Amino acid sequence: MAQIATEEAQPGSRTAARRPALSPSRASDFKQCPLLYRFRAVDRLPEVPTKAQLRGTLVHSVLERLFALPQHDRLPGRARELLAPAWSELTGERPEWAELFAGEDDAQVAEWLSSAEKLLDSYFALEDPRRLDPEACELHVEIELDSGVRLRGYVDRLDVAPTGEIRVVDYKTGTAPREIGEAKAMFQMKFYAVVLWRLRGIVPRQLKLMYLTDGQSLAYTPDEPELRRFERTLEAIWQAILKAGRTGDFRPSPSRLCDWCAHQSLCPSFGGTPPDYPGWPEPDPGEETPLDRAD
Ligand code: SF4
Repeated sequence: MAQIATEEAQPGSRTAARRPALSPSRASDFKQCPLLYRFRAVDRLPEVPTKAQLRGTLVHSVLERLFALPQHDRLPGRARELLAPAWSELTGERPEWAELFAGEDDAQVAEWLSSAEKLLDSYFALEDPRRLDPEACELHVEIELDSGVRLRGYVDRLDVAPTGEIRVVDYKTGTAPREIGEAKAMFQMKFYAVVLWRLRGIVPRQLKLMYLTDGQSLAYTPDEPELRRFERTLEAIWQAILKAGRTGDFRPSPSRLCDWCAHQSLCPSFGGTPPDYPGWPEPDPGEETPLDRAD
């Protein structure tokens, strides 16, 4: 049965777990726009989630719960039944998410819930979870590379075959056009592939992206030389982040993705002025949020 798990290179090291680390979301932010990284990881400016992001978080939570059920019970109807308790638990932890629906009538909330059901239906059209026995869902993985760079993230699902072959699965529920999100998604999957390869000594056999919005999936097979190169890329990104962190020089890098940026009003590229640089944060500028994990 699937379980919520944590896998670290240095188990039990609470001090290590708090050390600055690179997550796939923040690494992507820096690659896309250093100033966006600063706003999120250094200034830690609040961002109001969109309903689509909340729906993604909800669907991820339901799929995690689904795999905690006995295999024969993982049916579409059971998944739909899990929506309400999952939403109740999420809003219990973050009441501000429920407030986004304040002022909406029951029909509007029902429509939003129904759009989450459609994503679940789309998931069942892609695979039959009764035939799967994942090793873990929402697996926290963390490792320190030989270079000293610490990588940290959450894998949506890890399938391990009896032969030991590893498949990394990620559910995509976002609304951004796929051609925009695909490079970012593959970056994220290679990030996890490096972490798992270094943790377990096995190159994952498959990286699988499941796009629930359009009901398609994409599978990719990495190889060791590629992961070795990608590891060097991650190290270079972390060095660039540290350099910018020392000087506060996080420059804007405008692109089509600015349409999804919550901080345009503070961005010089849009006539804004960033707040004074607060200095490099302690203890951890790499943390991911549940919303990051549900893009
Ligand atoms: S609006 Fe664009 S350029 Fe400005 S911080 Fe956001 S992503 Fe960067």
